[in-house]
Amino acid sequence: MAMSEHDKIRELLALAAADALTSAEEKQVAEHVRSCIACSNELGAWRPIASELRRFPTPQPSSWLVQATLARAEAKLTEQAEHDWNRRVLIVVVAFAWLLTIASWPVFQVVSGRFGGLLGPQFSRAWISFAVFTALGWLAGGVAAVMLAVRRRGERRLA
Ligand SMILES: [Zn+2]
Repeated sequence: MAMSEHDKIRELLALAAADALTSAEEKQVAEHVRSCIACSNELGAWRPIASELRRFPTPQPSSWLVQATLARAEAKLTEQAEHDWNRRVLIVVVAFAWLLTIASWPVFQVVSGRFGGLLGPQFSRAWISFAVFTALGWLAGGVAAVMLAVRRRGERRLA
């Protein structure tokens, strides 16, 4: 029975040196080591190795959990940032489209003026051109926004 106890304790020595045992196991090891020179020597040999290992950033369960939580929080923040960024782009696109509409209005007034009267088929043709031009402006803004979003996502994947 003493032999089995010795083998069992021997398996725990490395863990004991690393302070990774339960208090019950720790007590068992301490008791055995007091009466067993072989285990006492082996525990003594494990101690410096264990303390050396502790100096390295080993993946401890608690720190791993902290890191996972941090990573999740970071991902959420990134998602939030992207959401904010997309909204900002949308505002810029809308502002740009409005600016384009306002800026293009005098141009079309001149164009429609060149056709003569403000009434008649020329005028309605000018209005259609104006509408098409505005729609194209919106479309260009939308395409630019999508392209920027895609490019941004690609850059983040590379980072
Ligand atoms: Zn022993």
